[in-house]
Amino acid sequence: AVVTRFAPSPTGYLHIGGARTALFNWLYARHFGGRMLLRIEDTDRERSTQGAIDAILDGMRWLGLEWDGEVIYQFARAARHREVAESLLATGHAYHCYATPEELAAMRDSARAEGRPMRYDGRWRDRDPAEAPSGVKPVIRLRAPAEGETVVEDGVQGRVTWQNRDLDDLVLLRSDGNPTYMLAVVVDDHDMGVTQIIRGDDHLTNAARQSQIYQALGWAVPAMAHIPLIHGSDGAKLSKRHGALGVDAYRDLGYLPAALRNYLVRLGWSHGDQEVFSTDEMVAAFDLKSIGRSPARFDFAKLENLNGLYIRNSGDAALVDAIETIVPAIGPDRGLALPIATDLRAKLIAAMPGLKERAKTLVELVDSAYYLYAARPLALDEKARSLLGDEARTRLGAIVPVLDTLPEWSAAATEAAVRQFAEGAGLKLGQVAQPLRAALTGRTTSPPLFDVMDVLGRDECLARLRDQAQ
Ligand code: GLU
Repeated sequence: AVVTRFAPSPTGYLHIGGARTALFNWLYARHFGGRMLLRIEDTDRERSTQGAIDAILDGMRWLGLEWDGEVIYQFARAARHREVAESLLATGHAYHCYATPEELAAMRDSARAEGRPMRYDGRWRDRDPAEAPSGVKPVIRLRAPAEGETVVEDGVQGRVTWQNRDLDDLVLLRSDGNPTYMLAVVVDDHDMGVTQIIRGDDHLTNAARQSQIYQALGWAVPAMAHIPLIHGSDGAKLSKRHGALGVDAYRDLGYLPAALRNYLVRLGWSHGDQEVFSTDEMVAAFDLKSIGRSPARFDFAKLENLNGLYIRNSGDAALVDAIETIVPAIGPDRGLALPIATDLRAKLIAAMPGLKERAKTLVELVDSAYYLYAARPLALDEKARSLLGDEARTRLGAIVPVLDTLPEWSAAATEAAVRQFAEGAGLKLGQVAQPLRAALTGRTTSPPLFDVMDVLGRDECLARLRDQAQ
């Protein structure tokens, strides 16, 4: 059975590249009816935080990427990692190295002087441990093959070959008894029964190292696929400016999880020219073959358009639910707080068909619904304020009694009354409708005016008009 894993280091938020890696692992597992496991690589005790772990778990849940089974914490498995390092010592595939920090610094210096990567020279590889200096705690190093090649058959990169003479004897266990990342990953992937590794191609060289450890242990190497990293719209490595934000930031910017997931699947993977995928379609179509070899570029405009599409296709009540999830983040600036009152909720749902046509994000949706939750007197935006000059305010004053005495309040009834009023005063409809819109919504654009009046109801409309009339 297929087993994949997502193995983030909890040293920061779940960033967009990590989310895509998680998505690909999730899709691959679902496609084959397998399992995706989640391993938190918290061996770096200084940099790992509970806050980051929570952000990763929340981000994955929000994106709908549920993992299978319990979360596995790498640090908790340190005893097992030590045991495996010891077993490699016992089989002669590893050795104690007593090189001092000064000796290693000298190797680093000469590498730098020659312009090549640092390479441990193997000075303890064949040395008699009896020569070990007293008081020095050794590290355990892999006795890596000195000749020949290490080959990784990568599902995305194809066959990748390293000359073993370029790969030095890597450290498996530090002198304080802690495993290195390289050892921990191999032992964990093996013990978790991982059959397919999918991760960023920044790990490609690690794949060669890890494959040497598998070989030394006599374990089967899982299939590997190293996916090109995401770049910014200008082709440079992704930075904050380009959209390298945490998944929680995308939530608070008003993206729907389904839209973000759809956007992410197309970052580096394609299926003909199809852009829009339901989750089932993604699962059915996903494969490693169609992952490109060059970096995908992050394109905010494309994400926004996709999000707009998902918003238009969402149910009205579901959109209000989605808005609720970002109220804690964006509400305070807008005078909006949880819980959303029952009558406001009803108004939002009623107005949603008009509002959702234009919004690209939930934040835009909330802002365009301002007229529904605004406290009186409304804060007018600049255009609305300049539209409401003396003449317009007088006009508002004149229409109040007309609306006040309407026998029935509906979009059709208010429209008929406003038209009649305009005609009677020798004005164009717009000359009345624009000030009405400005006074009722605080803006110069809104959903159709008479729908707005209908949703707000007579009392609120009259109160807002009286606030602005003179
Ligand atoms: N913990 C590593 C990272 O966050 C990933 C390790 C792996 O996928 O093998 O980059």
